[in-house]
Amino acid sequence: MSTHEAKRISRRRMLGASGTAALAGAAAVAAPGSQAEAAAAAPRWVMVMDLRRCVGCRACTISCKTENSVPIGNWRTVVQEKVSGTFPNTKKGFLPLMCNHCEGNDKDKMPPCIKDCPQYPGERAKYTTPDGKTIRYRTGGTYKRPDGMVLIDNAQCIGCGKCITACPYGVRSFNPLQKAGLKPEEKGVTKCSLCQHRVDNGVEPACVNTCQGRARIFGDLNDPSSEVAKLVKQHKLTALLPDEGTKPHVFYIDPDNLLATVYKKKTDSLDHFRDEIT
Ligand code: SF4
Repeated sequence: MSTHEAKRISRRRMLGASGTAALAGAAAVAAPGSQAEAAAAAPRWVMVMDLRRCVGCRACTISCKTENSVPIGNWRTVVQEKVSGTFPNTKKGFLPLMCNHCEGNDKDKMPPCIKDCPQYPGERAKYTTPDGKTIRYRTGGTYKRPDGMVLIDNAQCIGCGKCITACPYGVRSFNPLQKAGLKPEEKGVTKCSLCQHRVDNGVEPACVNTCQGRARIFGDLNDPSSEVAKLVKQHKLTALLPDEGTKPHVFYIDPDNLLATVYKKKTDSLDHFRDEIT
C-alpha cells in the first residue's frame, strides 16, 4: 500500500465513510462564504478512552515519547494504575491521561491555559477545513485551533510557565531540552499536541495507532458517522474534573466510575502526571 493510499484510508477512518458529505451538510445551514459557514465545516477532534479495554501496557506512552521526542522525566500522556471499591470488593483499573484539549467555558470558549498565557492572542493564522474553507484565528504562546486542538507555538513562548500552573489537570511541563522562543534563558513548555503533524496529514495520533486493545479512539465529533460520535451517543461518557468548567474533549467510557473515585478536585491531579516508564 502506498503512503498516499494509507493516508487517504486513515483519514476516511477518522472522518467516517460519509464524513465529507456530513461536513458539507453542516456548512449548508450557515451563510455562504461566511466564517460561520467555514466553522461549521471544521472537524472537532476528540479522544475517547475506553477504560474497559485498557490493559496498562503503556504502548501509548512509549509511542508518544518516540513520536514527539519527549525527554526523560517528561510525559505527554501517562497511564496510571488505580484501585476502586472497598476491600474485599476492589478492582484494579488503568487510567490513561493527556491534555484534554478543552473547549473552555461557555462564556469565552478559552481553556485556562490559554487565558493565562501572556502571549495570547499573538500572530494571525488561517485554518483550512477539509472542504477547502478558510477560518481566520489567532495563535499565541498557546492557543486553540478551529478544529479544537490546543497547541503551543514555542516561537511565541516566553517560558513564564503560567499555562503550566493554570491547567487543572497538570498535563503541561517545562521541556528541559527546549529554550523558549522569545526568551532563550527560559525553558519551553511541552504537552500533548494530538499529534497535529500526523492528523494534518490524515494519520491517527501515535498513541491511537499503537494501542493494541483499541482503548483510544480518535476522530471528528462533528461527523455523525465517525466512531467517536457514535460512542458519545451510545455511552454515558465522563470527563476529568467536570466542576473545573473547562469542557474537556477527552472522554471516558468508565463503567467502574474510576475517574470520580480518584479525581475529586483539582489538587488531586497535580504532581501525578508521571508514568513508570521514564
Ligand atoms: Fe489547557 Fe490543561 Fe485543558 Fe490541556 S487539559 S487544554 S493544558 S487546561
